[in-house]
Amino acid sequence: MDRSYLIKPQIGGKLPEISFGRGVYLYGADGRDYLDGSSGAITCSIGHGIKEVAEAMHTQAKKISFVYRSQFTSAAAEALAAKIAEWLPGDLNHSFFVNSGSEAAETAMKMAIQYWQEKGEPSKTIVLSRWRSYHGITMGALSLSGFPERRERFQYHMSGVPDIAPPYCARCPFGKVYPECGLMCAEDLERSIKRRGRQNIAAFIAEPIVGAAGACLVPPAGYYEKIREICTANEILFIADEVMTGMGRTGNVLGIQHWDCQPDLAVLGKGLGAGYAPIAAVVATDRVMEAFLQGSRSIMSGHTYSANPQSAAASLAVLQYIENNHLILNAEQQGDRLKTMITELDEPFIGDVRGKGLLIGIELVQDRASMKPFLKKQAAGARLIELAFKNGLLLYPASAGVEGGDGDAVIAAPPLTINDRELAEFMKRFTKACSAFRAEQREGVPD
Ligand code: PMP
Repeated sequence: MDRSYLIKPQIGGKLPEISFGRGVYLYGADGRDYLDGSSGAITCSIGHGIKEVAEAMHTQAKKISFVYRSQFTSAAAEALAAKIAEWLPGDLNHSFFVNSGSEAAETAMKMAIQYWQEKGEPSKTIVLSRWRSYHGITMGALSLSGFPERRERFQYHMSGVPDIAPPYCARCPFGKVYPECGLMCAEDLERSIKRRGRQNIAAFIAEPIVGAAGACLVPPAGYYEKIREICTANEILFIADEVMTGMGRTGNVLGIQHWDCQPDLAVLGKGLGAGYAPIAAVVATDRVMEAFLQGSRSIMSGHTYSANPQSAAASLAVLQYIENNHLILNAEQQGDRLKTMITELDEPFIGDVRGKGLLIGIELVQDRASMKPFLKKQAAGARLIELAFKNGLLLYPASAGVEGGDGDAVIAAPPLTINDRELAEFMKRFTKACSAFRAEQREGVPD
């Protein structure tokens, strides 16, 4: 077809067409293959073309694809909620399903506010968040996101409060060094609570490991323990946004499990449907649900497609596949290998390799010794992604988290299924892209 009627990210631009996918590979209509080193948008965590999921979806579609959540429940949605309760730590037992990470983050925001209304404390309405964070693209979720590049156009409609410094040791916002800093970044939450008054604050939301807004920033030991302490002491809920980190990606079911910290609400997306169906969830603890049960007995949110059996059946089959193939353990082991291999490349423009499991941030710098960031206009990350693409490897774009928008990074996040042979192929293609990038840098990138 000469003319396209589909609006693409780059309007008027062209994208190659994919015919099918198998495991970690995607195959283009032109015969090219791509190693999916980004799991799409860090989504396809069990790889492509998994027969068991296709069959579960087919079976469900033949029975019933849609029921309206106010009229009926379904065996698929019930079984998925039970499986999530079994997987998630502590008493995170109650799932409310939606269709995207943004909807889930926004629903968590609303549930936190409503929770305090149910408890007779209606003044607790502010949801605090951090700078260098991303919680979604809809207005509510975006207003929580400390991501200036994405929010600036819509400033007038922003109601959330990203007021807390990010836990970013390599570029400490306080100019301190861990552990002498005494975790000032966590204490920053306390400062914000004091300034605004705890009687006005419903919750604090954070990504356990910062994704797109900071390329896999891992907070130091003790950080989330302190965050939990501050939230409990001030009676505010802690919401873990696990859209990117959840369901095995980091080598644990939830990213927050790398610390001793139990969230009151967990937000799931991406890997929950693993690309097979749009599904996301807010998962609440027994204590949070009890307030709703004792109060209005309904959540003032929901979407037409919430808890639809078709997505639930797909998601259930995805979780079963992860379990049967021990993919969370594989994510931990192969993630360690991949991180080591990228670090050992010793590329002069790779300033930092960070993250956990198969969520690996690669920060690109002009000069490793001084960690001098690339300038925004140099678009270094986009160029490396382009060169990787030419070599048949997909990587994910991310901000390096440098204030002012400079700096660049990419994320490597292949499916949790990746084996040794596929890892070697990943490195072969990545090394070629790095050599081409280095050569271009030597020739001089205009600044
Ligand atoms: N929260 C986090 C942590 C995310 O990484 C994302 C997506 N990158 C979202 C929320 C929004 O999810 P979605 O794109 O599915 O709306």
